[in-house]
Amino acid sequence: MVNNPINIFDLDRIKLESFFINLGEKPFRARQVLNWIHQRFVTDYNQMTDLSRSLREKLAEYTVTDLPKIEHQYDSTDGTRKWLLRLSCGNCIETVFIPEENRGTLCISSQVGCILNCSFCSTGKQGFNRNLRTSEIIGQLWLANESLKQSKANSQAITNVVMMGMGEPLANFNNVVTAMNLILDDFSYGLSWRRVTLSTAGMVPGIDRLRVVCPVSLAISLHASDDKLRDVLVPINKQYPLQELLAACHRYVIGNNKRIITFEYVMLAGVNDSPYHAQQLAKLLKDFPAKVNLIPFNPFTNSLYQRSSMDVINVFREVLLKKGIVTVTRKTRGDDIAAACGQLAGQVKDRTHRFN
Ligand code: SAH
Repeated sequence: MVNNPINIFDLDRIKLESFFINLGEKPFRARQVLNWIHQRFVTDYNQMTDLSRSLREKLAEYTVTDLPKIEHQYDSTDGTRKWLLRLSCGNCIETVFIPEENRGTLCISSQVGCILNCSFCSTGKQGFNRNLRTSEIIGQLWLANESLKQSKANSQAITNVVMMGMGEPLANFNNVVTAMNLILDDFSYGLSWRRVTLSTAGMVPGIDRLRVVCPVSLAISLHASDDKLRDVLVPINKQYPLQELLAACHRYVIGNNKRIITFEYVMLAGVNDSPYHAQQLAKLLKDFPAKVNLIPFNPFTNSLYQRSSMDVINVFREVLLKKGIVTVTRKTRGDDIAAACGQLAGQVKDRTHRFN
């Protein structure tokens, strides 16, 4: 084995093709290897029977197939499953599978901890350690597939992927895009862009780059419709205020009438949940191809906020619906295993830095 072997899980098709060309091999070998690894879940080169023996030996010499390790699996009474995954550096991240009647969504992490510091989010309170590598991002999908395959029921298939776990995906742009390329590629996971959602707290330059290189479905963690309140809840708003954020959202959908942006809005009792706030939100999103997702706040140890009551959430939703804005209240799933939105904490050591 060479000194610095490449982890094959770090490569999407384009990168794998260049790798084979550098080895003096034909680029189509990339498709064969992707098929073995990401569709048949085979990582032992000896089993890749359509590759010559000498090529298998070369692969074993120059590459490894390293993945995070499943440290623990938690099963919720509602069918939600969470995995705590240990990385080679010792830190842990979390991945969640949410089965519904006709789809199964996997919620993937993009960083160890989070660089942002949203005041209502437990991941943010953990601080930030580092960006995940592509292999650690796509590895979550690979491991979840493997784990769910054993429980065979149809309802256990992953049909949708959301980058809504720990971390800010646009702050780890290149590795996240390489992983999403694999998720979208017919030679690996082959999901449609409609079924792959990236959620961001509003990193405007990243939204513009994403539109050009990998325009998957976009979700924005909005949570407030005026800058004063959003500065407190989502501090990156000080850098990219609402008008700039919405302008980037406009650019994201322009010229493609099939695109809608999901705006996530966490319901915090007495903070952002009055009918007045709903009117403001409706005004902000007027004439925009938007869907609003109301998320009842999920409490965690030492959290500063409380969840709005269901009555308050329903009134808020009615205001938006009357203004013609599609609005759904997100069902809280997996809260008995701390797998609900904003509860993912992993185990983050050596916190280095975070945005404030
Ligand atoms: N950093 C990205 C990805 C995280 S997605 C982003 O901000 O979009 C996680 C979603 O859950 C975000 O919409 C986030 O705002 C929301 N969330 C965070 N903490 C929460 C909590 N305690 N209760 C409910 N939703 C929360």
